Amino acid sequence: MSLYTKYRPRDWNSVIGQDSVSTILRTSLSQNRVGHAYILTGSRGTGKTTSARILAKGVNCLDLQDNGNPCHKCTHCIAFDEGNMLDCIEIDGASNNGVDNVRDLIEKARFEPNQWKYKIYIIDEVHMLSTGAFNALLKILEEPPDHVKFILATTEIDKIPETIRSRSLRFDFKKITEKDIIKRLEFVCREENIIAEKEALEIIARAARGALRDALTLTEQNIVNGEINTAYVKSTLSLVEKSLIDHIIATIVSMDRDGMINILEKLRTEHTEIRSLFDQILSGLRDQMMQIFQSKNTTDTLEFVTYSEIFAIFESAYSYTKTIPDGGLLIEITLMRAVMRWEKKQNDETISKNDEKNTKIKEIPTEWKKKIESEEIKTFDTFSTKSIENTVSVKNTETETIPTGWQDKTSTNTFSYIRLLEEIKKIKNTLVLDLKTARFEINNNTLTFIFSKEWHYNRANDPSMKTIIAEQLEKLYSGSWKIECRLDGTNNLNILDEVF
Ligand SMILES: [Zn+2]
Repeated sequence: MSLYTKYRPRDWNSVIGQDSVSTILRTSLSQNRVGHAYILTGSRGTGKTTSARILAKGVNCLDLQDNGNPCHKCTHCIAFDEGNMLDCIEIDGASNNGVDNVRDLIEKARFEPNQWKYKIYIIDEVHMLSTGAFNALLKILEEPPDHVKFILATTEIDKIPETIRSRSLRFDFKKITEKDIIKRLEFVCREENIIAEKEALEIIARAARGALRDALTLTEQNIVNGEINTAYVKSTLSLVEKSLIDHIIATIVSMDRDGMINILEKLRTEHTEIRSLFDQILSGLRDQMMQIFQSKNTTDTLEFVTYSEIFAIFESAYSYTKTIPDGGLLIEITLMRAVMRWEKKQNDETISKNDEKNTKIKEIPTEWKKKIESEEIKTFDTFSTKSIENTVSVKNTETETIPTGWQDKTSTNTFSYIRLLEEIKKIKNTLVLDLKTARFEINNNTLTFIFSKEWHYNRANDPSMKTIIAEQLEKLYSGSWKIECRLDGTNNLNILDEVF
């Protein structure tokens, strides 16, 4: 059982970081004033579905506690915990988004509950419903049967029609603070007898960006021999040392070109994950700006403007981190721009017109576009100079042959390492963590993973893991596949942290 499932809150007392929401919900339960439709909104991993379940359980609990918590002991609570909850229907709005799905749901909703007092419908990702489906849902929300309650959960409240919103009670879930996340992680580690370094948990909490679920998943992924240590967490999250970040910012502020040339040189030799590097720089800039801001010293205004300019350069580059295949390029260009205080102009055409030397910049976006359009390469956020694509083609020009179709980037049958990992992820998430650190080679129908770290190699080299990989390959690309793992301590190129 994953840490996230094991430590999922079962009552309001253990819901983390959502005090106002849980207070209102528990009070309405204890005062028996529960509405017929709720919308729980907020970013991922903040406790929406968890709260929906506690609410569903509480509404039907036969011995609701004074504080609005379900008793966990009555027959209804036990049935709920065991998953025998005929009257609590959880629907994934993303995969049941058609009008027929909702009509079917409404048909069934008209019948009295089987065991419980209320039938509860929890619709997750409700913003994914089609317009027709929303209209069907609206019908029942306009005249809801007394025995039905709806709990809608969404990360994107703006996509919910006003008509649905106005008929529901809305609750906004906040991002969970780093402090609250760290507290929870410390608790979980204590319970699990995991020895965790404080700094490691702080890094995880920051990386989770307000999502407790992500924090727990990251924690689980970073346990090595019952311990969580800072160096390992840093390496899996591709974090750059804080001192280097400070040095980068100082170099930019002083417009020191030589200093930046050295930094670029250094970054080229390190494996740096682009989004986390940008995150670190942005948060470093924010810290500096906050200091100046709080000092209230009028002479600092100019300095504040400088930081704002630099911030704007990184901010405008940030949106490309998801779409650019070669993250290294974006890092280098952005850092150079920052030193030169070069702000993004209205459109890219002006760049090419203005300067002959910029032909490279002009050409590259078309190339990115092609790659993105082919949907073959969604994101290459790594700072490695070789993309995965390069690795394949470089390897193959020498000794290996590529099966037909693999070179054709537009074909749906084209081999994609990312797609393979996505499939494996559905089955064995932890295996992806190992695989994404590996380089790979393809020789006929043998896929070889080359690991630089022994622990990744050991885990992936397990026969059962190889079977999973082979099965997914066969599913995606047919034929029969052989999987091999090799340990080679020299280099690891393709870390796809952002994608997975
Ligand atoms: Zn109960």
